[in-house]
Amino acid sequence: MKLSFFGAAQTVTGSQFLLEVNGKRLLVDCGMYQGKRAEMYARNQNFPFDPRSVDGVILTHAHIDHSGNLPNLVKQGFSGPIYATPATCDLADLMLRDSGHIQEADAEFVNKKRRARGEPPIEPLYTKEDAAAVTKLLVPKGYDEHFQVGSLSGVTGCLVDAGHVLGSASILIEVEEPRKKRTRLWFSGDIGRRKLPLLRDPVLPGAVDYMVMECTYGDKIHDDPGQAHEEFFRETMDTIRKRGKIIVPAFAVGRTQELVYTLNELVSAGRMPAIPVFVDSPLAVNASDIFRRHPECYDQETRDFVARYKHPALEFSRLTYVRSVEESKAINNMAGPMMIIAASGMAETGRILHHLKNNIENPRNRILIVSWQAHNTLGRRLADREKKVRIFGEQYIRQADVTTIGGMSGHAGQDFLLEYASAARKNLKGLFLVHGEPRAASALQARFEAAGLPRAAYPPINSSVEL
Ligand SMILES: [Zn+2]
Repeated sequence: MKLSFFGAAQTVTGSQFLLEVNGKRLLVDCGMYQGKRAEMYARNQNFPFDPRSVDGVILTHAHIDHSGNLPNLVKQGFSGPIYATPATCDLADLMLRDSGHIQEADAEFVNKKRRARGEPPIEPLYTKEDAAAVTKLLVPKGYDEHFQVGSLSGVTGCLVDAGHVLGSASILIEVEEPRKKRTRLWFSGDIGRRKLPLLRDPVLPGAVDYMVMECTYGDKIHDDPGQAHEEFFRETMDTIRKRGKIIVPAFAVGRTQELVYTLNELVSAGRMPAIPVFVDSPLAVNASDIFRRHPECYDQETRDFVARYKHPALEFSRLTYVRSVEESKAINNMAGPMMIIAASGMAETGRILHHLKNNIENPRNRILIVSWQAHNTLGRRLADREKKVRIFGEQYIRQADVTTIGGMSGHAGQDFLLEYASAARKNLKGLFLVHGEPRAASALQARFEAAGLPRAAYPPINSSVEL
């Protein structure tokens, strides 16, 4: 049996692991590599294996860095089953089509420049139509259900709640090989956290032989999510008192719905006045529909909330899901207090840019940063409280206050990662850290060593191990 690390190896993007067993090939995740355009194209278009030779895929969750290269896999000849939870199937369908649309728009943007220089046009990485072809191969499997993996004889899979985003899963793979003891492998996927709104807590692995685990925040100890939500409440109340507008750049899938549910709790409990709240991102609006269709993924607290207040988790009186551009523009003429939640999460594209532009120069307003911001993004410049920022090529003097709320991350921090690995240690023969920068991995390796865990490997990209 051979395991290869073809993505999210010594980096956080492009999750992709190939397991070769009994003469067959199983791919775990097929994420898009995200980075500079040329490298992004090259890495995603050229698989280090023949997509036609893959017999099946198991998908941990719908985030693009785990699912986003499936359209290329299918375009290049993969035609087997893609297993995922029902909620992940629905979210992946939505997100991949959206990603196809983004790729087409991006190619168009590049081609405009190329035409001007007399260069030939480039093809988009994939199209909306390529993304739609993936949907036909999705095979939903409920949590904790053991299933035979396509034509891979002797291989069963089981999806277990990872508590990271709606439908997210860790994968238990059990392998029977001729004349060998049964081998159990665990792929953590992205590991969520305890006490995140809406979602159940991540399930810890049991005794397994090999574990591939993420380490995004291997070097960080998070604040408690409850504390973060209190901070969010305090900052919101403060701006309401000033009758300002609260602008929140948020990822359309996951963070937006968590914030909506948090606001719903605050308003329903009478702690916060029911100010108008706008979710202004077509992707977020569609994703929220999918969240509503999958209450089986909610935690007990959310179920109790729904039973107690007799209204859905993602609906309350003055909450508006905005679809049309006209509706979005109309928000601009309304007086505060109000909250606008819009994508993208790092304020690089999308309707959030219009809201920032219209509100950044008013000292009554507040920008709330609720997730990690990459370097060289507008979100990072705002989080760094820069005074002058450029939006749509024009300079604005920031008067609105900016507050960054840490502790809302959907990824486990160092303490929980240690607990997670410890839960699997009994028969552990191999532990592989993926989906983390070198600093995060080495901090976690040191923490594991101090706790007496087996040495954790940090495999380089395109490396393989025999199991
Ligand atoms: Zn994720």
